[in-house]
Amino acid sequence: MLTPVLSDNWDQINAWQLSSYQRTGGYDALRTALAMQPADVVTAVKDSGLRGRGGAGFPTGMKWSFIPQDNPKPKYLVVNADESEPGTCKDIPLMMASPHTLVEGVIISSYAIRASVAFIYVRGEVLHVIRRLQQAVQEAKDAGFIGTNILGTGYDLDVVVHAGAGAYICGEETALLDSLEGRRGQPRLRPPFPAVAGLYGCPTVINNVESIASVPAVIKNGADWFSSMGTEKSKGMTLYSLSGHVTRPGQYEAPMGITLRQLIDLAGGIREGHELKFWTPGGSSTPLLTAEHLDVPLDYEGVGAVGSMLGTKALQIFDETVCVVRAVLRWTEFYKHESCGKCTPCREGTWWLVQILERLEKGQGSEADLETLLDLSENITGRSFCALADGATAPITSSIAHFKDEYLAHFTHGGCPLDPMASTVFA
Ligand code: NAD
Repeated sequence: MLTPVLSDNWDQINAWQLSSYQRTGGYDALRTALAMQPADVVTAVKDSGLRGRGGAGFPTGMKWSFIPQDNPKPKYLVVNADESEPGTCKDIPLMMASPHTLVEGVIISSYAIRASVAFIYVRGEVLHVIRRLQQAVQEAKDAGFIGTNILGTGYDLDVVVHAGAGAYICGEETALLDSLEGRRGQPRLRPPFPAVAGLYGCPTVINNVESIASVPAVIKNGADWFSSMGTEKSKGMTLYSLSGHVTRPGQYEAPMGITLRQLIDLAGGIREGHELKFWTPGGSSTPLLTAEHLDVPLDYEGVGAVGSMLGTKALQIFDETVCVVRAVLRWTEFYKHESCGKCTPCREGTWWLVQILERLEKGQGSEADLETLLDLSENITGRSFCALADGATAPITSSIAHFKDEYLAHFTHGGCPLDPMASTVFA
């Protein structure tokens, strides 16, 4: 069932070094790609069915094909390594364990779209990752994989590792571009999409770390190999990150469409003596699911069919000891803090969501507050400038749908029914 590809070399000694990466066939795909026409590389990625691993699942090859090659402006590749969706921990482990997988993917992808400069935008807090990437880029430069006349093919590329400054909004692709250009990171109106007018107004491909790191394997093994894994519309293998109440949290690489039940088995089960209560399929921006969804295929269609989203495949697992109201409040505080303030529904809406949730969590709310929360969520969703505020409402509406009784129990109990110390009944 398991098909470790991205994580295949993670347990090699010094897997992050060029010599180790090359021992396991690293940079062979680059040689193959550079012997192909750039358009054929795009076609291979299109045919593979690879879809964006940052959360939205947009077809990667199609995105590349939007780059207008008759436009005389420079083209750019930007890797979104600003991983910060709550619960998401796949790109950072990948970059730490095998940075050359990403660097090789960057060179191949840049060649495919005919970019001569690529940026890897990493969140500023993860200094260890930034250093590791800088080291890998330098090693690749020294080996002649980056620079002028790469491997004698006449192709020139520079790769820049850029550190962000720790704002969740800069993971939104257009805010990331503003930040990269030296401005305060705030989302831009789309269209135009970055493929048409991106960095410095030039055609730009922005892809997630895992998407770009998947490219060398596609080129090396072929589009058919990649598309033979996964489901009909969600192809290939991917990294799922499991956190919370499982015995062995971590990153699990598996074909698209694996179920949570299977992943929990791989992770040693729910911690002993406890049972699954709720989980997120793709970080806290995706609607919560429950034990009744254990057998839902974890692909874009399967998760969508039960009213949620695959998102970043960040599976946060919570057992029966967790108060869903408190968890939702904690996430909402995050979104309120991270709202960039550009648009009113998000700036004001997330503030109000927190006010009401705080009241509810303390057992001081009323049933009318639940209606207000739902009404507020409905007014925010689809009316904000970017996906941040939509994401903020997802755990709220889904938790009320699945756990309304638990919200109500907070009123009758005068506080959290799961935590006697927090309850005003014991005050
Ligand atoms: P989106 O669906 O609007 O766009 C996805 C990608 O396709 C973008 O790169 C966009 O430029 C491109 N695209 C879409 N339509 C296009 C068109 N007509 N022409 C050219 N390009 C086009 O999604 P989004 O708003 O970019 O991202 C939202 C997703 O981000 C959510 O699904 C969420 O799961 C995810 N997310 C990820 C993180 C993380 O840490 N990785 C954090 C928050 C949210």
